Amino acid sequence: MIRAFAFFLILSGLVLLAAWFAEHPGTVLVTFGDWRLHTSVGFLVVLALVAVFAAVFLDRLWRYLATSPRRIAVAFRENRRRRGYQALTQGLVAVAAGDADEAGRLARRAEGLLHNPPLTMLLSAQAAQLQGDEGAAANYFESMLHHPEMAFLGIRGLFMQALRDGDEENALRLAKRAYALHPKTPWVVQALFERELRAGKLEDAEATLREAVRQRALPAVEGKRRRAVLLLRQSALSKADGQAAAARRFAQDAWKLAPDFGPAAICYARHMAEAGDVPRAGKAIEKAWKESPHPDLAAAYLEIAAPGDALGRLQKIENLARLSPRHPESHLAVAEAALKAKIWGQARSHLADAIAALPSARAFRQMAELEAGEGGGEAAIAQWQARAAAAPADNLWICRHCSAIAAAWAPVCANCDTFDGFQWRSPGPGGPGAKAGPQPPISGRTHWFSRESSEIPNR
Ligand SMILES: [Zn+2]
Repeated sequence: MIRAFAFFLILSGLVLLAAWFAEHPGTVLVTFGDWRLHTSVGFLVVLALVAVFAAVFLDRLWRYLATSPRRIAVAFRENRRRRGYQALTQGLVAVAAGDADEAGRLARRAEGLLHNPPLTMLLSAQAAQLQGDEGAAANYFESMLHHPEMAFLGIRGLFMQALRDGDEENALRLAKRAYALHPKTPWVVQALFERELRAGKLEDAEATLREAVRQRALPAVEGKRRRAVLLLRQSALSKADGQAAAARRFAQDAWKLAPDFGPAAICYARHMAEAGDVPRAGKAIEKAWKESPHPDLAAAYLEIAAPGDALGRLQKIENLARLSPRHPESHLAVAEAALKAKIWGQARSHLADAIAALPSARAFRQMAELEAGEGGGEAAIAQWQARAAAAPADNLWICRHCSAIAAAWAPVCANCDTFDGFQWRSPGPGGPGAKAGPQPPISGRTHWFSRESSEIPNR
């Protein structure tokens, strides 16, 4: 708009000038030696204007030609860059698709076009890994360490390689480096914690947990549980070493940290009972039962209190069950003790309550036992046995990593070394040997802490 207006102004000016010269004719005489030029003023003005325009045009042309090589070079570089990033993008897609040859080809192309910026190293490393060339991949990861913006990715790559090679020492060193760079990244925290555990550096592992909770890389409740499990592990190791006092202290620390966590309550209670403080041992179990009843707690309670006869045991369990009276586990514990004491009526009423709250194979089996004890007849026994067989299998301590079943909870799976791997759950339709993936929370069963939430009304 503004350009059109300016053009219009210039044009008007020229027309006015031409008109003015037409109205005021004049002549110009130029002599130079023998040479004479005799012309009108208007023609001379036009000549001067043409000369000015020609000078401007020639100047523009010269500048354009003078800067051309640089512009051509810039355009060429831009084109290479564009093609380089295109190769890089397609290479990453090839890596994601698992196409090793294509990824390798595009990595070389991106490297050639982009003059090896840090980004192509990642693609080259991944392509090399896809092609099974771990040595070349390691070289790329090592090169990344020299670039601050890529160092973390390099460390991660080398860490994964160390893990795969079973090089624990190197893996721990790399996990520490990764942690120094990104202390808030959950997988880094987990990696460092696990490596410290493997290396037997339990105190370092606990410090990592504390720091992870402080940095909010780990929820506080999960951090507490893991620290408690760690302390229970330390307690067991100390006990195996014959250091009774240290074992007791670790057990006490674990219990103080997580008094609702059944294994911690049981471990602490056993130490207290060994030290002769049975009342305190009982209190620890009672506190845990109040929050989350579990058959292990009931067994430990009887083991510690050691009441002699079946009636004494029933009485003891009734006291415990009163702390969480509506929980199916309380009904089942009382029913079991009542069955052993042959108090059939009490057993039946608690089993009925347990089944109403949560039908389970265990409750049906106890019903069959009750019918057998009370002389209820073959048909009734068979009916309960059939229901027990049809119900999901009883909960067991199952390792979430290798699905191994343990007779008792332990901080570490003896089969696969997984820390805090045991879950209290049913082996499921696949049977105990089946490899189980991550299990959804199973409602209506006792769980400790937030790992799997219990949906049972507790009181
Ligand atoms: Zn395991």
